[in-house]
Amino acid sequence: MPEAWFDELAELLRIPSVSADPARAGDVGDAAEWLAEFVRRAGGSAEVVKTDTHPLILGDLPASTNGSGAPTVLVYGHVDVQPPDPLDLWETDPFTLEQRGEWLYARGIVDDKGQLYMLVKAATELASTGELPVNVRFACDSEEESGGHQIVDFLAADERGADAAVIFDAGMTKRGVPEFAVSTRGIVYFHLTVRTGERDLHSGVFGGAAANAVHALMGILGALQPQDGRLAEPLRAGIAPPTDEEQAAWTSSRRVRSSWPGPERSRPITGPARSSTWARRRSRHWT
Ligand SMILES: [Zn+2]
Repeated sequence: MPEAWFDELAELLRIPSVSADPARAGDVGDAAEWLAEFVRRAGGSAEVVKTDTHPLILGDLPASTNGSGAPTVLVYGHVDVQPPDPLDLWETDPFTLEQRGEWLYARGIVDDKGQLYMLVKAATELASTGELPVNVRFACDSEEESGGHQIVDFLAADERGADAAVIFDAGMTKRGVPEFAVSTRGIVYFHLTVRTGERDLHSGVFGGAAANAVHALMGILGALQPQDGRLAEPLRAGIAPPTDEEQAAWTSSRRVRSSWPGPERSRPITGPARSSTWARRRSRHWT
């Protein structure tokens, strides 16, 4: 990596934009401003839009020629990062970019400041030589790591649309095997309260006879994910079966990821659980 690029990237990584920490809200805003300024310096337009949580970064970098006829590519990335704790497990300062051998180390380098930098840098380099073939619209946020919704709300309300969208917020399973993730998984979470009686009962007298909330909860959670690791049938309603192409891709994926998730990290619950996970991820390889 050219030294100038390293320095530029280091500048963004130096900002401790931890969105989950209210004390870092100013840093999160600084990281948003850094990105907007980067796009502006390249000849585009960009603004940091305040929201009632963390800001959005919205900008446009026009195609070098035929701007109105060129397709528009929407680019998403996020400038916030996960908290760096526990700090004693870091060998170097988490917010100082460091190169060791072929690898770069810093909080956010692979999620998502590094990827986002590659995108904006590529776009601005092409623009600087008059070779940017598409209009690039940046729609980035600064709360991805803390479960934000601003970008979703913005895109849903933005009627301009785009011809394609790039979310550069993932990794490669294996070096030398570029990979497109064609969809991402979501998350649903909730707080569950189970109550089995109107008042406390003495365990020595009623234990084992009166319904215990813990036992009820065990039954509820166990029914959601039976032993084969697949979601219960009612929760699978509406799932589109994988296509032959997807099945074939997963076969090669499994070869690539034969050790995934790896005995040193975790074992899949069962074979079906593992293939069910592919179905949820719907990932494809580009070979
Ligand atoms: Zn991310």
